[in-house]
Amino acid sequence: MSAGLNLAQLDAVNHLAGPSLVLAGAGSGKTRVITHKIARLIQAGLAADRIAAITFTNKAAAEMRERAGQLVGRDARKVLICTFHALGVRLLREDGQVLGLKPQFSILDTDDITSLLKDCGGTTDANTARAWQWTISAWKGAGMSAADAIRQAKDESERQTAAIMARYEERLTAYQSVDFDDLIRLPLKLLGEHAEVREKWQKKLGHVLVDEYQDTNATQYELLKLLVGERARFTAVGDDDQSIYGWRGATLDNLKKLPIDFPQLRVIKLEQNYRSTSAILRAANNVIGPNPKLFPKTLWSDLGEGEPVRVVAADNEEHEAERAVARLQSLRASSPHKEWRDFAILYRANHMARSFEQALRRAQIPYKVSGGQSFFDKAEIRDLCAWLRLLVNNNDDPAFLRSATTPKRGIGHTTLGQLGTFATQYKLSLFEALFSHSLPSAVNARAITTLHEFGRAVNDLEYRARHTVGHEAARAFLTEWLKDIGYEQHLYDSEDNEKIAAARWTNVLDFCDWVAGRCGGQIADEAGAQVETERKSLLEVVQTIALISTLSEREQDQNVVTLSTLHASKGLEWPHVVLVGVNEGLLPFKTDDADSDLSAELLAQRVQEERRLMYVGITRAQRTLAVSWLKRRKKGRESVPGTPSRFIQEMALDQATVKEDPREKLRALRAEFAQRATAAPPNPA
Ligand code: ATP
Ligand code: MG
Repeated sequence: MSAGLNLAQLDAVNHLAGPSLVLAGAGSGKTRVITHKIARLIQAGLAADRIAAITFTNKAAAEMRERAGQLVGRDARKVLICTFHALGVRLLREDGQVLGLKPQFSILDTDDITSLLKDCGGTTDANTARAWQWTISAWKGAGMSAADAIRQAKDESERQTAAIMARYEERLTAYQSVDFDDLIRLPLKLLGEHAEVREKWQKKLGHVLVDEYQDTNATQYELLKLLVGERARFTAVGDDDQSIYGWRGATLDNLKKLPIDFPQLRVIKLEQNYRSTSAILRAANNVIGPNPKLFPKTLWSDLGEGEPVRVVAADNEEHEAERAVARLQSLRASSPHKEWRDFAILYRANHMARSFEQALRRAQIPYKVSGGQSFFDKAEIRDLCAWLRLLVNNNDDPAFLRSATTPKRGIGHTTLGQLGTFATQYKLSLFEALFSHSLPSAVNARAITTLHEFGRAVNDLEYRARHTVGHEAARAFLTEWLKDIGYEQHLYDSEDNEKIAAARWTNVLDFCDWVAGRCGGQIADEAGAQVETERKSLLEVVQTIALISTLSEREQDQNVVTLSTLHASKGLEWPHVVLVGVNEGLLPFKTDDADSDLSAELLAQRVQEERRLMYVGITRAQRTLAVSWLKRRKKGRESVPGTPSRFIQEMALDQATVKEDPREKLRALRAEFAQRATAAPPNPA
């Protein structure tokens, strides 16, 4: 049991009778303390179903369940391992009746809430409704009721939102529904106001463990206090340097309050990092250094110096993606044991995944996008891919169904149902069935005409795609095709909000640019010079894209590269990490318009949180870390010059920690030679 724990970790694991706080830097084994403590508690005789372990995400919960399972076997399944929200659901399903909530209450998702708020506020604009949702959620997160909000409203706009909140709350009650914030707020009310329920849960839970404690908000802390009661048998683990959810109401006050609210609290610090090499750890410490210290910490590792952190300057997003993918490939090739799951590419914002997805697909490397939606999973891109798949393989039935109905072309569900039955009966694909002589026995004549039109359109497209060569022809072809099928109109018809429809249309155009670009021909390189690349037919290109669109199904085995936002990477680790888009303005993030009226202090706080985010990113890496920044970056539809983030410079404070990319040096040398050659004095002879 004690195997694989150091003395400080053992101390934390063995402190069973009262509250403890493990306060330690990244990779020091905090999460490991939690899993081992679950095992220790069971070994000490506490029934597994009297232990609750609270994690930050469902994914983290699943991972912890697995790790605990390895330590204690089947008993681990009885431990309540879940997020604060899932725990709230449990409390409400069991005891919510006391508050007038039926056990089968429903939980609204974000879209449900937006449309309910549209109703309550009398608007059709989703953005307005989302703004209300944000404010109401913040109020509820701070423990305010609608009545509190009305009382405390500072201006007309807040008064209006508060009134909408009151209507919204009434509707929720009438519908027997709750939103996400209620999953914390209502259990709090339940335990706070009903002593018998409170005592029941305090007696039931023999120990509560909380991972990522630094990211809890005020109401979650109150809930924890009510759950553990006077006996205060709990273990919280966290790292103030990794607090990255301040924008969502998480507060470091919870860390400061703990020793005051629980004077008997045992505070344990862990100093050895078991995750990263010394070079990576130094880079992390250099970056977090300038932040004010809440609790001083030192972190060391005996995993050796390792490779210096590599800094890469990329010309633009595409170049950055190519470089990242090339790095993955060469690292993997350097050792036969490396798996795709050993690699992660991390970035600040969801939309940044796109260029990496495209480059990985081109290299046929399997990947998954966590913490956001994959570009290739967006409805509009799936629509277009369905068409392209059908061109490559007429017998792809799911692709047939999707393209025959998107955009609508008068082929109804009844017709498709009849076609499907007929196809099954004669063991044909839907497309083959379309041209069967016996089809008229199954489908009525008018429907057949429409079906045939569709079939001919597919055949015609296939023929033309085969004979369209080079990127310019391909672009023209795709533009015409989108017009033919009326795709832009379809987007605007199926989406109320024009801005969203426009954004989806931009995705479509981006996708077409990308596909066309693969067809080669005269293309401008980074320096603007025309170069000739190998020309391919559109059908050839589509074949490779269609092939890799099935890659996402291969994800099942999970031996895939991870693309993740920095926020979603918290708590995880990979042998090789590439941190991308580390530019001023991206990390630290800056919105030009919104930031201008912030006070200097608020701005400084923002940068501190961004610094912690960078620290989280760096400390995900076990063996190698590369950090790249963009010399030019896209801003809207424009390309603007980029500068490396201050965090890169800080990381590099320490010469041995960072190494420039060798190709950069070569390029700098070449540039220098070129300059010298032109600047050389004219030959005196
Ligand atoms: P983070 O702050 O990123 O959440 P953490 O403090 O929770 O990190 P863990 O994920 O628990 O750290 O541990 C980091 C890595 O070190 C894991 O791979 C874990 O298995 C390993 N580890 C932790 N403690 C020990 C130990 N005593 N001996 C060997 N390996 C350890
Ligand atoms: Mg952890």
